[in-house]
Amino acid sequence: MSEAAIEATEAATAGARITIDLAALVANWRDLGARAPNSTCAAVVKADGYGIGIETVVAALAKSGCGTFFVALPAEGARARKAAPQATIYVLNGLFEGAAPFLADHDLRPVLGSMPEIEEWAAFRAATGAPLPSAIHVDTGMNRLGLSLGETAALAADPALREGAAPALLMSHFACADTPAHPLNAAQIAAFAQARRLLPDLPGSLANSAGVFLGPDAHHDVLRPGISLYGGAAVVDVANPMRPVVTLEARILMVRDVAPGATVGYGAAWMAPRPSRIAVISVGYADGFLRAAGSHSGKAGATAAIEGHLAPIVGRVSMDLIAIDVTDVPDRLARRGVFVELFGANIPIDRAAPAPARSGMNS
Ligand SMILES: *Cc1c(COP(=O)(O)O)cnc(C)c1O
Repeated sequence: MSEAAIEATEAATAGARITIDLAALVANWRDLGARAPNSTCAAVVKADGYGIGIETVVAALAKSGCGTFFVALPAEGARARKAAPQATIYVLNGLFEGAAPFLADHDLRPVLGSMPEIEEWAAFRAATGAPLPSAIHVDTGMNRLGLSLGETAALAADPALREGAAPALLMSHFACADTPAHPLNAAQIAAFAQARRLLPDLPGSLANSAGVFLGPDAHHDVLRPGISLYGGAAVVDVANPMRPVVTLEARILMVRDVAPGATVGYGAAWMAPRPSRIAVISVGYADGFLRAAGSHSGKAGATAAIEGHLAPIVGRVSMDLIAIDVTDVPDRLARRGVFVELFGANIPIDRAAPAPARSGMNS
């Protein structure tokens, strides 16, 4: 068999499948941009494009007009660069010691978050004479990466160092934007305004996904959404307006009847409270489906869906198998060979991710 034929057979016989809706990804990027019409909407594509595949995400967004990307690491930047030769790419985790030549080779801009990084970048630029811009990260209350306001003032007062580092963007990051009423949001917005007054000619970037929903005071010049692009909920306890991008489905291998009092799976963790129909599906923790999504009598787990009918996970998540309760699903839908949704249009990814007791299951 040719390699292509083997791949096709593997796809046809896979236990589970992930579908990525790139049109929905692009629609989410446009939707976010429309919420801040005076800003440029960039895209955060760290962690392999939030698990979707950095090249796929960058190519789709670049083709649709996205010109600025943020990655966490230099190697991610190199992968993004291949997918978007013309784009502006910033490396959020900054300038690793000695990494300047790598960044220069791939035309990547470091987000400089400490004085040693600024000094190293300025020295590298002076030594090479190359016109390589950067971004400056100021900390406005998260106490993770970034210069303090005092250091920002010191940089502003040192024109040689400032010109040496050649910043093209001033940025900061919210700690609590997912909770709009949190007082730290207003404090960070005020601190960022102060930083922008210190370095007045630089474009500013403050808003992650949740920051886009905080309104115009948070928007500035460049938006940096991540999770919302991929369909995740950015803001807690409100309806998520984004389109789902990723769907996970697994096939039903068999359906069995279980008598009241019988248990299902390892550890006999779940006991049938009524005559039950159980479908066994072909996905498990070896595929990255977390064991925390399992259930036992006393703790509900995650829920699957078959054409909109809910089917809670019962018992532990095995390595390559999961049991779901299909007692309330019509038999014509819960049968061998049918693909069951674990997250997608019917099960929001944010409901599947934490696997808390939200499924309404009481056993
Ligand atoms: C991850 C990250 C983002 C994107 O955050 P989301 O909450 O996923 O939108 C933006 N800015 C910085 C600095 C980040 O680390």
